Amino acid sequence: MTVLSVRQAGVVYPGGVTALHEVSLDIAAGELVAIVGPSGSGKSTLLNIMGTLDRPTTGSVRVAGYDVAGLDDRRLSALRGRWLGFVFQQFHLTDGLTAVENVATGLLYAGVPRRRRGLLARAALERVGLGHRLEHRPSQLSGGERQRVAIARALVNESALVLADEPTGALDTVNGRTVLGLLRRLHEEGTTIAVITHDRDIAAELPRRVELRDGRIVADG
Ligand code: ADP
Repeated sequence: MTVLSVRQAGVVYPGGVTALHEVSLDIAAGELVAIVGPSGSGKSTLLNIMGTLDRPTTGSVRVAGYDVAGLDDRRLSALRGRWLGFVFQQFHLTDGLTAVENVATGLLYAGVPRRRRGLLARAALERVGLGHRLEHRPSQLSGGERQRVAIARALVNESALVLADEPTGALDTVNGRTVLGLLRRLHEEGTTIAVITHDRDIAAELPRRVELRDGRIVADG
């Protein structure tokens, strides 16, 4: 099953910069894909259209079979909440909430009752090895642990695709390795993940690498 299909997507920013030229990319269920390229190659732009945060200027994007072009903003945000999970370089956790509460926010759009949100959030934190940090707040966790909370939040609704934007970019080497190891383990357990990175060493460890250069895919394999 194809979870994400980008077809000849072009992105032109106001002012005339063409950030993507007719990019086509399919991601099948169960894949772990690195999207790699130097600064300015179009990674963030591609991530934004894959994550339905932006629409391409030309071409199409389908998530879980739904064509993004046919959906208004409300439906698009429902589609995101249901099918996509996001992991950011700077974690984007809420400081005033515990780990469980942060993860449970990943279920708010899904209409899951409060009690069940807590149960699912605990299970997701156990999956990422944080069963002993459930009631900690982000400020009481290491960078690596914070990123594992963010990964648990991206997993908790059983999203079809997890989009991780430079997930080790704010971490030291040891914590970075732990997070990368976790993403690989989740992939072995069946989770579909795309990792956006400028780091060729990280990309080299992932089974499929899509290389961007000047807004074009120059290698995929
Ligand atoms: P990367 O994430 O690989 O660093 P980006 O997708 O951010 O690359 O940028 C690709 C190109 O598009 C660059 O030339 C960048 O300067 C340009 N760009 C990115 N965002 C905007 C924007 N909002 N407006 C105009 N140009 C942009």
